[in-house]
Amino acid sequence: MLQQTRRRNGDRLLYALDGELSQRSSAGRRRPADRAQGVGRTRLLCARARNAHAAAQQLVAEHGGQLPADRRQLLRLPGIGEYTVGAILSMAFNQPEPILDGNVKRVLARLCDIGDPVDAPATLRELWRLARLLVETAPPDAAGACNEALMELGATVCTPQSPRCLLCPLVDLCLAAARGTQADRPVMPPRKTTPHYDVAAGVIWQGEPFASPLLIAQRPHKGLLGGLWEFPGGKQEATDVDLPACLRREIMEELGIAIEVGRAGDGGASRLHPLSNYAARVSHQTCRRRTAGARLR
Ligand code: SF4
Repeated sequence: MLQQTRRRNGDRLLYALDGELSQRSSAGRRRPADRAQGVGRTRLLCARARNAHAAAQQLVAEHGGQLPADRRQLLRLPGIGEYTVGAILSMAFNQPEPILDGNVKRVLARLCDIGDPVDAPATLRELWRLARLLVETAPPDAAGACNEALMELGATVCTPQSPRCLLCPLVDLCLAAARGTQADRPVMPPRKTTPHYDVAAGVIWQGEPFASPLLIAQRPHKGLLGGLWEFPGGKQEATDVDLPACLRREIMEELGIAIEVGRAGDGGASRLHPLSNYAARVSHQTCRRRTAGARLR
C-alpha cells in the first residue's frame, strides 16, 4: 500500500479500503450516492490488491511461501517492479540493490545538480546508476539502511519546497547547494493539460430499485482497470444531447439492453475522479431495465 505514495496517503487509502470493506460486509444497504463515492477509491485499490493476492498465490505455489532473494524471480511476481525489488532485496536480504523513488530521485538530482528532465529515460538510467553506486559502496550489512536513509533524507530534509540544507549531512558534497540551484532541481517535465471527460454510469435495477437485481459488468481483462467490475456506461459523445442519452446509447451498444434513466436527483450522484492521465466527471444515474436483452458478459 505504501508503494509509490507517501505514508499519510497510504494510511488514508488503507482506512478508505477498510471502511469500504466493512460497509460492504455490513448488513445494511447503502444508498447509490454512497456507493458511487466508493467506486473511485476501490478501483484505485483493487489493482494493487489483486496483484498482491496473485503474488501471494505464486509465492505459495512456487517458493514455499517465502520471498525469493533473487532479482529475476522477484520480477516474475505480479505487481513487483524494479523499485519493489530493490526494497525487498536491500531491506529484507541486505543485498546492495538500489531503490529509486521520488525522494531518492530528488536527492540525487540535487547532489549531482542534474539539469536534465528527471523523468527522461537517459536521466532515469543515470539516477539508477547513481543509486546503485551509493548502495554498493555502503558498509557491509548496511544496504537496507543506506536506501532507507536516502528516502528519509528526501522525505524530511531534502524536501521539494525549501530543502533544509543547513541541517543536511550531505551539504558539503551537494553540487546544487554549492551552486544555489536547489530550487531548480530536479527539473520536472512540463505539465501536460489534463483532458476532462463527462462519463455516465448506470445503476440499473432489473425492476424496483433496492428490491430487484442490480446489473454490474466486468471490464475486459486486458487494458485499463482490466477485470474490475463497474456500473456500465461510457463517455459522452458530441452526438449525445445529454448524459441520459449517452447512457441509453452506451448500454444498448455494450449490453443490448434498453433502459429508462431516472430523473436528476433520483438517487444519482456525480463525482470528479482525477486519474493519472485524465479527469472524469462520472454521473451515476439510477435506471431501470425496460426490455430483456443479452446477458451481461
Ligand atoms: S544540501 Fe540541500 S539540496 Fe543538497 S541534498 Fe542536502 S538538503 Fe538536498
